[in-house]
Amino acid sequence: MSRYWSAFVHNLEPYVPGEQPKIANLIKLNTNENPYGPSPKVLEAIHFDVSDKLRLYPDPTSRELKEAIADFYKVNTANVFVGNGSDEVLGHIFHALFQHEPPLLFPDITYSFYPVYCQLYKIDYQTIPLTNDFQIDIADYLRDNGGIIFPNPNAPTGCLLALADIERLLKANTESVVVIDEAYIDFGGETAISLVDSYPNLIVTQTFSKSRSLAGMRIGFAVGHPDLIEALVRVKDSFNSYPLDSLATSAGVAAIKDDAYFRDTCNKVISSRDKLTASLNELGFEVLPSAANFIFTRHPAFDAADLAMKLRKEGIIVRHFNKRRIDQFLRITIGTPSENQHLLSVLDGLV
Ligand code: PMP
Repeated sequence: MSRYWSAFVHNLEPYVPGEQPKIANLIKLNTNENPYGPSPKVLEAIHFDVSDKLRLYPDPTSRELKEAIADFYKVNTANVFVGNGSDEVLGHIFHALFQHEPPLLFPDITYSFYPVYCQLYKIDYQTIPLTNDFQIDIADYLRDNGGIIFPNPNAPTGCLLALADIERLLKANTESVVVIDEAYIDFGGETAISLVDSYPNLIVTQTFSKSRSLAGMRIGFAVGHPDLIEALVRVKDSFNSYPLDSLATSAGVAAIKDDAYFRDTCNKVISSRDKLTASLNELGFEVLPSAANFIFTRHPAFDAADLAMKLRKEGIIVRHFNKRRIDQFLRITIGTPSENQHLLSVLDGLV
């Protein structure tokens, strides 16, 4: 490590993303991508007039994409903020909207980027244990805080909180910002965007990486009260006044407008998830109820790390977390029906 690094950077523990190996014929079920490609209309939109799209600077306000998102969710463009993936949007939220103390609250088992942002922006945080059956209990969050954040459905568990519970939290917690990270909401949950008009401290984030199959493009957004959005714009402009490149903007607009393709592919993933869950149950696996495009599962008689390693030898890559309470679980992304079938037949030979 360089002696010119600041002490702060020396001590930083960066986020470790899931592996992205480029090995032919590998069945990749480890980072929750969509098994279906993006809408064909996205591909047309990227190709159209590509020379000018690359020659000119993009629109610094991403107006077209904000309008398309606002139209889809029936909010105003002043309620919408866009960025390069929801990770970047979340980074701006941590920077601009959470207090440094009292502590930010989030679950002990959740998206592992949150503690990294806390380190980066020197935000004090407290993790709240999930219940014995791996659920978020809103009652545990009704305490003094500098903000609250959790994914709904939660990751990596896939467990969903009802909209009524989120509203209960918002009614009780009016002094700090509440962020609902809806990266996986389109696979079986109800978005909290409908609550934004009533609760000025609510921010909902979503991504085009999962349900709209554009993980490689990096498009994410937040919906909230215009005051909160304005704070994000201020931070964003200080880093990079162009939120999205021109190709991503065109892709995002085309993706959100192709509602039929979006619904069809989400429904396919949901139906595969339910079939995979039933088949895993038959093999003796316990599967947490999932509203996401992945499942979180364990087998009472077989070690999860060992199963992950054996699957890998058979060309199937799933996610294992070496973390207390969940080290006996595997997180498995829902693949195509034939990928899921292959996974099941390999597991059948292992358990
Ligand atoms: N939130 C959660 C809970 C996630 O699992 C992910 C994906 N790793 C993200 C946000 C970020 O997604 P992206 O940056 O691709 O929009």
